[in-house]
Amino acid sequence: MGRLDGKVALITGGARGQGAEEGRLFAAEGARVVLTDVRDEEGEAAARRIGEAAIYLHHDVRDEDEWEGVVQRVVDRHGRVDVLVNNAGIYRRRDLLDLPLAEYMQIIEINQVGVFLGLKVVARAMRDGGGGAIVNISSTAGMRGAAGAIAYGASKWAVRGMTKAAARELGPLGIRVNSIHPGPIDTEMLVDGGIADRRAELAAAAPLRRIGEAADVARLALFLASDESAHCTGAEFVIDGGSLA
Ligand code: NAD
Repeated sequence: MGRLDGKVALITGGARGQGAEEGRLFAAEGARVVLTDVRDEEGEAAARRIGEAAIYLHHDVRDEDEWEGVVQRVVDRHGRVDVLVNNAGIYRRRDLLDLPLAEYMQIIEINQVGVFLGLKVVARAMRDGGGGAIVNISSTAGMRGAAGAIAYGASKWAVRGMTKAAARELGPLGIRVNSIHPGPIDTEMLVDGGIADRRAELAAAAPLRRIGEAADVARLALFLASDESAHCTGAEFVIDGGSLA
C-alpha cells in the first residue's frame, strides 16, 4: 500500500529540484502526478523518468488562464485533484538599496501571486471533489528577515500568511492547507541565486551541520499531502537542520 494510493497530485515548479523529487516520491507512493513548469524540456524529462504515473504540462504560475487550463486538463484526465504542492519559485540576491521595482515585482508575481492563484483555482476543483490537501512551499525567509533578499522574504512571509487565511476559509470544505519552511536546500536555486559557493558556510551554521537535500523536503511534503496529516491545517513546518532553533 502506497501512502498516496489513488490520489492525484499537481506539483508546480516540478521540472527539477524539490518539485521533481516530490513528483518521484509521490508516484512511488501510489499517486498519479502532474508536474508543471516553464522549463519544458526538463519537465518532460522529469515526467519520463517517473514513468506512466506522471505527465508534464507547461504552466506559468503567474497566469490565471494557464492555471484554469491546467486544472481543467487534470480534471479531464483524472477526474479530480487531491493534492497541490505550490512549489514554483525564484530567488535572487539584491540589496534593498539597489533593488529595482520591476525586479521586486517579478519575485512577488511568481512566489506570491502564483501561490494565490493556485489556492483559488485548485481549491475550487477540490471543493467540487469533496476535499484535498495543499502544501505551500515558503522558506525560513518566511519566518525571519532575509538580508539581501527583501522581495523573496516578502513573498515567503505572504505565503505563510495566505496559508493560514486559506486554512481557515477552506477547512470547512475539507481542504487542508499547510506551509513548509526549508532552510538552504542543495538545488539549482543556490546556483541561480548566487549562493552556491556558500554551501560549506551554510552547513556549518546549522546545528545538524549540513544543508538540506530535495529528498528531505519531499518526505515532509509527502506527510502533509497524505491522510497521515489529517488533523494538520494552517500549520508551518520548518525543515532547516535546526538553524531557526
Ligand atoms: P529550483 O530552482 O530547482 O526549482 C524551482 C522551479 O520553479 C524551477 O524548475 C523553475 O523553472 C520553476 N519556476 C520558476 N518560475 C516559474 C513560473 N513562473 N512558473 C512555473 N514554474 C516556475 O529550486 P528549488 O530549491 O527546487 O525550489 C523549490 C521551492 O523551494 C521554491 O519555492 C523555493 O523558493 C523554495 N525554497 C528553496 C530553498 C533552497 O535553498 N533551494 C530554500 C527555501 C525554500
